[in-house]
Amino acid sequence: MKIIRVGLDVPVDQLFDYRCDDAQDNDVGRRVLVPFGKKTQVGVILGIAETSAVPPQRLRAAQHVLRDELPLTADDLRLLKFASTYYHYGCGAVIMNSLPVRLRRITSPRHIPGSYALTAAGEAADLNQLPARAVVKRRLLALFKQQRSLDSATIRAVAASAPGALKQLLALSWVEPRDSAAPPSSTTDVPEAVAGPPLNLAQDEAVRAICARLDGFSAFLLLGITGSGKTEVYLRVIDAVLRAGRQALLLVPEIALTPQLDAMVRDRFPGVALTSLHSGLNENERLAHWRAVQSGGARIVLGTRLAVFAPLPQLGLIVVDEEHDASYKQMDGLRYSARDLAVVRAQQRGVPVILGSATPALETYYNAESGRYRLLELPQRINAAPPRIDCISTRDQKPADGLTPRLLAAIAERIARGEQSLVFINRRGYAPVLMCHACGWLSNCHRCSAQLVLHLRDRQLRCHHCGHLAPVPVTCPECGNAELAPLGQGTQRVEAALTQRFPDARILRIDRDSTRGRHTWRAMRNQIHAREVDILVGTQILAKGHDFPHLSLVGILNADSLLYSADFRAPERLFALLSQVSGRAGRADIQGEVLIQTAFPQHPLYAALRSEDFASFARSLLAERRQAGFPPFVYQALLRAEAPKLETALAFLEAAAQIGKTLSPRMTIYDPVPAGMMRLAGRERAQLLVQCDSRSELQSFLAAWQGRLAEPPLRRARWSLDVDPLAF
Ligand code: ADP
Ligand code: ZN
Ligand code: ZN
Repeated sequence: MKIIRVGLDVPVDQLFDYRCDDAQDNDVGRRVLVPFGKKTQVGVILGIAETSAVPPQRLRAAQHVLRDELPLTADDLRLLKFASTYYHYGCGAVIMNSLPVRLRRITSPRHIPGSYALTAAGEAADLNQLPARAVVKRRLLALFKQQRSLDSATIRAVAASAPGALKQLLALSWVEPRDSAAPPSSTTDVPEAVAGPPLNLAQDEAVRAICARLDGFSAFLLLGITGSGKTEVYLRVIDAVLRAGRQALLLVPEIALTPQLDAMVRDRFPGVALTSLHSGLNENERLAHWRAVQSGGARIVLGTRLAVFAPLPQLGLIVVDEEHDASYKQMDGLRYSARDLAVVRAQQRGVPVILGSATPALETYYNAESGRYRLLELPQRINAAPPRIDCISTRDQKPADGLTPRLLAAIAERIARGEQSLVFINRRGYAPVLMCHACGWLSNCHRCSAQLVLHLRDRQLRCHHCGHLAPVPVTCPECGNAELAPLGQGTQRVEAALTQRFPDARILRIDRDSTRGRHTWRAMRNQIHAREVDILVGTQILAKGHDFPHLSLVGILNADSLLYSADFRAPERLFALLSQVSGRAGRADIQGEVLIQTAFPQHPLYAALRSEDFASFARSLLAERRQAGFPPFVYQALLRAEAPKLETALAFLEAAAQIGKTLSPRMTIYDPVPAGMMRLAGRERAQLLVQCDSRSELQSFLAAWQGRLAEPPLRRARWSLDVDPLAF
């Protein structure tokens, strides 16, 4: 009897056995339909066996092995299994969740014969040649440009009217019919890359060092301030990897960054198939892109954290840009770090990984200092002097609506010179809270330990944590007083204040509220580049990797709010954020200026920022961490619990701590405490920190502990493990 072991998307870490008479050895990694309870589920075959621990009469039969897609390879599965073990999360769940949604569903997308390919004319055609209202035609052409060829099922999935749009593209000779679906991956004739600028000495050394080691695993930390030419180093190494007939995986922290890098990579490697993988794609695009990657058709893969799991048969290089960025860590479900998994994957596959940043995570920097990673430095901006960074003491200069007179004067100067200014504030909305001065009432969210943010434009109070919405009250709900006042500043309030102060200036606000649409952000970037904007007001989305050549002033409001925080990583994060924002000022030939409004202008963090000295700042933080026993000198895991009542969560954690203490004397187990965000969406949350100076001992402890926590008497709170937690 043939038995298959199947991984399913279920909360228990267990494989399920099924009878499957037609199973073949090469079915491992394929999807299969199996009965589960009263339903049918899609799973992945992880093993084939002759016997099962389940008695034959209870063993159910698998319904159908899905052989229409390429299977996950042993290499793909090895990474997924590692993630399951390391993060203590069910193997089936890890694997199923790594697949595009359409492959997790029962109704399997079919390849329908007939496919179409982009022609040379189509490649040369500009999307903007099509009228803006030809939405479907544009999307279809964009997809063709990504994938080069599409099968008719994929085309039909784009939109109901896609077949009509296809006819028009055929009529324009931008696409043509072809016989076979996926293009055979040609690895031998790689089209020439467009020549880049001649490298400077530091870049040249970095490229040589990496290219000398393309045939095995090594991890490189490419440390260089914004504009020091890191991207150029990636491109050169990618070129070498493509020429060796291999695929390159380029990870970026945010979807917002993909179009920019996408364009840059395409310009450098015309004719090389590039595919993106990120959560902004719709289900059909995800599937089409995934297939292109898996078939080897895509030679360069550009993606956000989820792309770390993409099946790459000929992987030759992984680049993690802005490696310190917190968005590489998934904050729910499988709480993985894509940066860390990228290093593991490179090791498993015997390929190099480049971690690039101006302000690497201290964990990464420490690995470079201690010689586990090779440190490559790009010490200078390519074609700009470093910005002048200065603090404005808010004790001397009282801000009005968050803006000090000196900052306003600096903005006025830029407007007069036709240069752009950026005002950075870490909060969106109008004001972080609404207050009644008569009785002290605050607009709190009734479901979270957070305040409702005032959004004046929509006349709403909004919870940024659970999404709760309420109309702005006319009078105080507690005392009836009619004078409710917004407290503090958000982007909208700063925008309003600037509009009043500079009525003729063109002001653009950029935050998550204003960039919601799929194409809005791109349109805004074009506006900025075309100098149709004088003042930008924005949150961190503006801080990341955007090249604004006409921007010469950055003003930072409210930096202190991040300076003092219970989280030991707060200084590291603030430094990264501020140097990233500062990096926006003055590229090309304009001298940049950065003005930080703070009540603590003497703080060492601001001093380090002024001298752009990450290394000594990092070393002093590392010394503190060593002294205090924080990562990277210890390894941590957080047991998180939530329940309708805080006491339930705390009691569960107390019991868990007791069990933990009996398992290993080597673990430091702290007391259970309420979570930083104690109430969230109506549930109360608490957590328990465990740490140890040995990663492997912590890992075996967690495995044993997790088994014990699953036992019945404890099951009153919902809990999860967070290994290497970043948020507390
Ligand atoms: P980073 O990724 O470190 O922020 P980039 O690689 O984007 O820096 O480089 C910043 C700018 O300098 C880009 O416009 C890039 O084209 C240009 N550049 C990079 N390397 C060189 C070089 N060796 N010579 C001239 N210009 C360069
Ligand atoms: Zn009141
Ligand atoms: Zn809420």
